[in-house]
Formats: sequence, structure tokens, C-alpha cells
Amino acid sequence: MSCFKSKYQDELIANAAYIGTPGKGILAADESTGTIGKRLSSINVENVETNRRILRELLFTAPGCAECLSGVILFEETLYQKTAAGVPFVDVMKKGGMLPGIKVDKGTVELAGTNGETTTQGLDDLAQRCKKYYEAGARFAKWRAVLKIGPTEPSPLAIHENAYGLARYAAICQENGLVPIVEPEILSDGPHDIEKCADVTERVLAACYKALSDHHVLLEGTLLKPNMVTPGSDGKRVGAEVIAEHTVRALLRTVPPAVPAIVFLSGGQSEEEATVNLNAMNMLKGKKPWSLTFSYGRALQQSTLKAWGGKDENIPKAQEALLVRCKANSQATLGTYKGDAKSDGASESLHVKDYKY
Ligand code: 13P
Repeated sequence: MSCFKSKYQDELIANAAYIGTPGKGILAADESTGTIGKRLSSINVENVETNRRILRELLFTAPGCAECLSGVILFEETLYQKTAAGVPFVDVMKKGGMLPGIKVDKGTVELAGTNGETTTQGLDDLAQRCKKYYEAGARFAKWRAVLKIGPTEPSPLAIHENAYGLARYAAICQENGLVPIVEPEILSDGPHDIEKCADVTERVLAACYKALSDHHVLLEGTLLKPNMVTPGSDGKRVGAEVIAEHTVRALLRTVPPAVPAIVFLSGGQSEEEATVNLNAMNMLKGKKPWSLTFSYGRALQQSTLKAWGGKDENIPKAQEALLVRCKANSQATLGTYKGDAKSDGASESLHVKDYKY
């Protein structure tokens, strides 16, 4: 049998296509309570519900940003929060044309007998949670699988386990009306070169699409969130054109044209690098059967977070910083970014070793 029939089929296809609209992308604001705590502590702000809500309200209501965003990924707590004026965040998003999404994985655990490789948890009660999130207004989901590059990593076990975990998650989401974002993130940690990353990315993506096919997932109602093909964090640097060529080639070899859009993660690149690399891909001539857009967390929020610093009076300045990055990335999805959003802060590396989301 090919794809299974979901009563949500038409809606899944329409929502996935909408999220991939060129000129728009996703703001990933789904940091778990622990992860957002690290961000807040970097600006000396206490990790309490009120502060998390203020930060998220600042992001979702930033003037002008909605035009550049087709979706926002939320953590469970945020899906049910409201603005200070009492408007549910979900309504703020719908009004701005941003589809609400939800992180549904429960983090990673180590695979026994491997050199620190992991699998992602959260399948057991996933169907019930998807139903609940759909009722609350969510229309897409994210599940992050993590792979790493080492002398013998990723192992065949880690590739297989993570591909089938992602596929099972995707099928459950589609049965319950949520567009699954399939995210097999290969960490950039390590001294490897870009060729090594290209090779691993191809193997991982090929395994993922085999698993998605085995699980009868409707590809037209999915999105892929991959890493870009880059040298390792301690590897020899290369230019944006080289990253663009290697990334698009790896995707052409492995991602079926039925997938409407590829929404990259930023993975520790600086804000500016993430924008310039995406722009270079969209400037490349040649076959590209999917739209290439963004689903950035760190690379959209870093300068905003710094500009805010936890102070109410800085909110307009912080929202302007977000707009600068949103516009630059919107242009990058069209290959028209001219480099004018560059600033010292925007070039700062956001790499964190063994990053947890
Ligand atoms: P970064 O863009 O910070 O890598 O995060 C995106 C994301 O959602 C990772 O799961």
C-alpha cells in the first residue's frame, strides 16, 4: 500500500504548502523550559513563567514580522499562554497568518552500547497529545532526532533507529491532523570537512525517506528540517556558495520532489551565516523541486534577546532586532538578500557543543 488515507489529507497538504510559501519561514520558539532557562540566564533574567511569557509575547507581536513568517513552533506551555492583555497566543498567530506548531518530542536518551549516540522519546502517548494540540489550534509539529559525526558515527543503529522513530512520529501526526516536520539534525560538532558532512547527510536522509515510505506517510503533507551541509565546528571554513552547492546536491539525491518545502535549522551558525547560506542556495541555478526556507531558533532570536535584556523599556528595540532578521531571512528565501542586516552581534557564532533543544 502507498500513503494511508487520513481524513485530514487535504488540510495537511494545504498547510504544508502554506508553511513553505517562498518569502516566509518558521520562527522556532519551542525551547523547552530547561533550554530557555539557559538563554534567559545569558541575559540575567530569571527562568519563571512570567518572563518566558513576556519574551514569547515580544516575539509573536513584533510589528512587521508576521509578513515574513508562515509558522511559529511552540513549547507546550506557550500553546496555552495569553498576552498581557488576555489574548491567546494562538489567536495572535492566526490573525497574523502564522500557523501555530508544537514541539512533541520528549528529548533524547542514549542508545546502549554506542559512543554517546541517542534516540528520541515521546511516541507512547503521542496520538492523544496530537489530538489535544490540534484542538488547541496547533496545525503542525516538530520532532528532533539527533545524530553526530565521529570516527564511526553515526552508526547504522543510530541511523536506523532515528529514521524509524521520525517515520512513526510522522504517521501519528498525520492521523491526527498535524503536519509533521521531520528533523534529523546532524550536529556540526567536530573537526570533519564538508565532504564528510555531505556523505553523512545523504545517508541519514536516504534512511529517513525509506522509513517514511515504509510507514505510508503522505510526503505532500510533511516538511523536512535538516542541517545545512557544512564543515564541522572545528573544521576548515568554506564559503557560502560551497555550502549551498553541497547542501542542494545532498538534498537532490535524497529528498523526493513530493515534499513541498525544506525548512533549515540554524544549528549554531551565526545569525548572518544562516541568512547568507540560505540566500546562496536560493541563488543557485538548476533544479530545486521544493522551496528552501528557514525554521531558525538561535539565528532568529539571538540579537533580539540581547536587545531586550529583560527590560520592558527595551521591548521596541528588541522587536526591531527581530524584524531585521525576519526580513533578511525572508529575502534569503527568494535569493535577494544583499547583506544589509549584518552587524557585529549578527556574526557571533551560536555554536553550543552537544546542543539540546
Ligand atoms: P536552531 O535554529 O537554533 O538550530 O534551532 C532550530 C530548532 O528548532 C532545533 O530543533
